[in-house]
Amino acid sequence: MRIAFFGGTFDPPHYGHLAIARAAADCLRLDKVLFAPVGKQPLKQDSSVASFEDRVAMVRLAIGEDTRFEVSALDAPRPDGHPNYTIDTILGLKKSLSPQDQLFCLIGADSFLSVSHWYRAAELLFACDFIVAGRPGAERLDVVLQNARQTLPQGVRISSSYHHQTELLEFGLTNDSGQHSTLFYLPDLHEEVSATAVRSSVAERSLSNDALPEQVSEYIRAHHLYY
Ligand code: ATP
Repeated sequence: MRIAFFGGTFDPPHYGHLAIARAAADCLRLDKVLFAPVGKQPLKQDSSVASFEDRVAMVRLAIGEDTRFEVSALDAPRPDGHPNYTIDTILGLKKSLSPQDQLFCLIGADSFLSVSHWYRAAELLFACDFIVAGRPGAERLDVVLQNARQTLPQGVRISSSYHHQTELLEFGLTNDSGQHSTLFYLPDLHEEVSATAVRSSVAERSLSNDALPEQVSEYIRAHHLYY
């Protein structure tokens, strides 16, 4: 199976998340995308507004009928109260997979551009392959990676090529230990939405229905979230 781990705050989930998950699943022929709301984001601790349970419930409503999409509790709040580090989650998930499975980590370009600050980043980059989605307002990853290689942790080398099967720009990552991974770049889908903007619109009672699925808006209203 070809599986993508898709971590995020999902506070709330919106059409930007669904668009990149759908594009990734289509382009890379994924069997499964695991939407995993994070208990405690290491770089934005205590930043979530809705509870983990509400975010899980909203993701379940957002993913709807697409049988490739699943909500996952892999990044549930830890009993010891520590932040959820992606490297721990990915290594744990890999242990549960069979050797034939291929694991990817799906992430937006804005998040990926801070990857060198992530816990054990140099290890994470070789723990699985990456699908990085362009995001409106974020620097173009293809340009950043080609011109400013310091975006990546020290010792990580990068080369780019065009992948004919997927029609995506693909980057090969290597390090001095001879490890290798691949980063597929999904061009920007121009979904201008962000969870921050959605929360502000809810607070101002001006939420439009092109930001997120109606079922999620109804959940927000019914549970009095974000105002
Ligand atoms: P916030 O506004 O609260 O920071 P967000 O909209 O970025 O939230 P997250 O749950 O933090 O949502 O995002 C999860 C992942 O989805 C991140 O890797 C992020 O880069 C990506 N993402 C979110 N919105 C978009 C979008 N509109 N287009 C492309 N990628 C997106």
